[in-house]
Amino acid sequence: MKLCLKSVCSTCGSIVTTTGCSSPSCTVTDTYLSAKVSILVDDGTSPAVVSFSNSPENVQLLLRLSPEQWHHLEVAAQEQGEVFMQQFVGEGESVLENFLMRLCNSQHVKRQCRMVLRHRVFQHGQQNTWRSGVLDINLMNKDEFTYRSVKANAMFETRCLPYLQVECLDLNDVGYDVW
Ligand SMILES: [Zn+2]
Repeated sequence: MKLCLKSVCSTCGSIVTTTGCSSPSCTVTDTYLSAKVSILVDDGTSPAVVSFSNSPENVQLLLRLSPEQWHHLEVAAQEQGEVFMQQFVGEGESVLENFLMRLCNSQHVKRQCRMVLRHRVFQHGQQNTWRSGVLDINLMNKDEFTYRSVKANAMFETRCLPYLQVECLDLNDVGYDVW
């Protein structure tokens, strides 16, 4: 799991801290919590990286936080400036990181969900941009294949197909009691 949280100015897009918008000329006080999360899921057919990059609402649903808790999370993010986490074991560097670590490791978040997903692939020739579509391995260069070392009788180094990359468009809790 990767998680990036920051409070962002609605007008200029700069980071907002407890002293306001970080852009010197900006006096806007309207903010929102920008939340980018990616998680690894495995439905038994293939592991996939699910990104929640365009919808803070879906991150709020994923973390199952109420509007009030979401607001408190934004205030805590403002105090820290920006939160970026890739490790969810051990001790975090702040109270907020420890809270997020415990939250993300709990059954409150790790649960069965039903998601509407869209396949996304790299836009070749343009760094870090994505488009929806089908992966064409003939267009990939060597660096785009995932590096992996496999231990058998000896260690083997190989490159394999990258994880399936999908984007979450909608998320619902699975309610087995509603059939
Ligand atoms: Zn601003």
